[in-house]
Amino acid sequence: ADVTQLLLSRIRDVPDHPEPGVMFKDITPLLADPAAFSALTDALAEIAVRTGATKIVGLEARGFILGAPVAVRAGLGFVPVRKAGKLPGATLSQVYDLEYGSAEIEVHAEDLAPGDRVLVVDDVLATGGTAEASLRLIRRAGAEVAGVAVLMELGFLDGRARLEPALDGAPLETL
Ligand code: 5GP
Repeated sequence: ADVTQLLLSRIRDVPDHPEPGVMFKDITPLLADPAAFSALTDALAEIAVRTGATKIVGLEARGFILGAPVAVRAGLGFVPVRKAGKLPGATLSQVYDLEYGSAEIEVHAEDLAPGDRVLVVDDVLATGGTAEASLRLIRRAGAEVAGVAVLMELGFLDGRARLEPALDGAPLETL
């Protein structure tokens, strides 16, 4: 509970970003506070250990900032899932629907393999579309899903419901 309060106190609500009507949850104050950033890293690393993860997948871009120290702390490898066109090697890619239009994410095929158990880390679960697409990539690479761990879930967008079929029984953990 103390950790939750600390984390909550370091998240800033920014109205009308990136467009009018959106209340953006800004985690940069949390990142700038060493006690909060460390507590967040510890809490996510505990989930990685508890779920038996062997690799951390971080979702561009804030999932990189959170996922990399979690991987180091838990003694695991880190694999970036990037927006299409950024990774230099052979990739698997996944297209998914947004409210208006679509998006595409990619992973290096050789970074995930059968035998890997993957925990997906990101800051915010909104509609769940990005996380859902990442789970498809992980399974297409032949790896197992250990779960999804996020700092925050925007409950009113119901991302948890969208994600549930792709989780296939694996946990969605929200701090
Ligand atoms: P989704 O695919 O679940 O709709 O969107 C999730 C992605 O958008 C995440 O990668 C997350 O970083 C970003 N995102 C959406 N809304 C917010 C927000 O209010 N604050 C932050 N920090 N990220 C957000």
